[in-house]
Amino acid sequence: MDLRHGFDIKRYIRTIPDYPKKGILFRDITTLLANLHAFRAAVDELAWPFLKGGIDYVAGIEARGFILGGAVAHVLGRGFVPIRKKGKLPYRVIGQEYALEYGVDTIEIHADAISAGDRILLIDDLIATGGTANAAIDLIRKSGGEVVAAAFVIDLPDIGGSKLLRDKGVKIHTLVSFE
Ligand code: AMP
Repeated sequence: MDLRHGFDIKRYIRTIPDYPKKGILFRDITTLLANLHAFRAAVDELAWPFLKGGIDYVAGIEARGFILGGAVAHVLGRGFVPIRKKGKLPYRVIGQEYALEYGVDTIEIHADAISAGDRILLIDDLIATGGTANAAIDLIRKSGGEVVAAAFVIDLPDIGGSKLLRDKGVKIHTLVSFE
């Protein structure tokens, strides 16, 4: 089965200049999520390379990665594993620090969420520097999981995150890019 819709997803992404701070072009996917055709096309297109199997769990990065990742997990018929900001998960966790423009942040996963050898599809809405996804990949690997691929609706290729992850040996699947 091939779920590719040939649908113009990009048209449904709203760009907000100077948010959250001056000079940033914020790519807002709430307008895509609110349109049933655009949302379905985005989820199906994220999922289609993995329909043949080879994925044990879909992992999503808080917060927009939950919306997309949960839907992709449903399409693939697999469970969903949340990767959250520090202090949000209730059980024992494994954490991974990553650098921000100023300072550091930490993301966490439940220590028992992934078992050795589990094959994981990582989902988020957008890849910019790749810092967040890179930390999520390290976290999955620390848990014993194998990252089969990382999939994003939006790539900002000029910022270099998708190249960084490819250079690290991770397969990347993206739907639209903004130069
Ligand atoms: P990065 O770690 O730099 O790859 O940033 C990726 C994370 O930050 C994702 O979870 C995005 O939701 C968010 N993000 C970064 N840049 C933007 C942007 N220009 N528009 C919307 N979200 C962004």
